[in-house]
Amino acid sequence: MPETPKLLFLGSAAAEGVPALFCNCRVCREAAARGGPEIRSRTSYNFGGAVQIDFGPDSLQAWQRYRNVMCEVRHIVVTHAHEDHLQPSDLLYHGLGFASVPFRDGPLTIHGTAPTRARMEREMWLRPGESLDHRMEESKLALHEFHPFEEFELPDCNAVVRTFAADHAPALDPCLLMVTMNGRTVFVGNDSGVFPETTWNALESLRGKVEIDVAVLDDTGAFLGMPESPSPEPPYESNHMSAPAVIRTFDRLASAGLLAPDCIRAVNHFSHNGGATHRELCDFWEKRGIVVGHDGLSL
Ligand SMILES: [Zn+2]
Ligand SMILES: [Zn+2]
Ligand SMILES: [Zn+2]
Repeated sequence: MPETPKLLFLGSAAAEGVPALFCNCRVCREAAARGGPEIRSRTSYNFGGAVQIDFGPDSLQAWQRYRNVMCEVRHIVVTHAHEDHLQPSDLLYHGLGFASVPFRDGPLTIHGTAPTRARMEREMWLRPGESLDHRMEESKLALHEFHPFEEFELPDCNAVVRTFAADHAPALDPCLLMVTMNGRTVFVGNDSGVFPETTWNALESLRGKVEIDVAVLDDTGAFLGMPESPSPEPPYESNHMSAPAVIRTFDRLASAGLLAPDCIRAVNHFSHNGGATHRELCDFWEKRGIVVGHDGLSL
């Protein structure tokens, strides 16, 4: 494990990817023509090797691209059970007979809220009468269920996870995550609109106890709602964010004393429906001191 655990952006798109499935909008056409960081797979992250945040439909691609890092994964923490963040059937390939030589000893632990468990029950091909626990054991997987506003340790990698309610698909108990490993703290704010006040209360209670070194917010709607936006659509405030809500949220995190003095501020989880290419996002955000996520970015 490296001394300073890094946050690796395995993906940077919202649910449809960029260029998106079946879409021929301007953003998708320009992304396809330019390639490089304009091409986005669905958002997930690796933190410090041992911890993966979300396990979406592009996890195979992440394994193929970042194999050395992915071989260290011991825990997958699922923010919520939407399809772009959780692909339960691919977890079955962790079992013997699929992964014929296990990539390391010991189980892989999946951490998620109750709706994440429910989707795993539906989509992991349980035999008649079989329990999810049995299926998991057979696949050398373990399941740990958490709730919003919890704190739990991952002792085998010296990490602590804190969870907060997101403003997003309420039926899924979606969570924002704060993960501290070896003294470095990252905050993953997707998927969420403007944070609920209960979440602000919980965050503000951490003042003086923890400082965020890398803060990533949901910018699904790019800079909709700003004068520079190429699209006249209104800003995203609930369920997801665009620039006005992102800027306010970074300001409030800073005034709550939660950001380290040299905190890296980043945005991620972009939709082509936000109407901006990667190049346009960089033009907009970099002058405001904010890093634009892209596949393969390591912070
Ligand atoms: Zn999403
Ligand atoms: Zn498109
Ligand atoms: Zn979602």
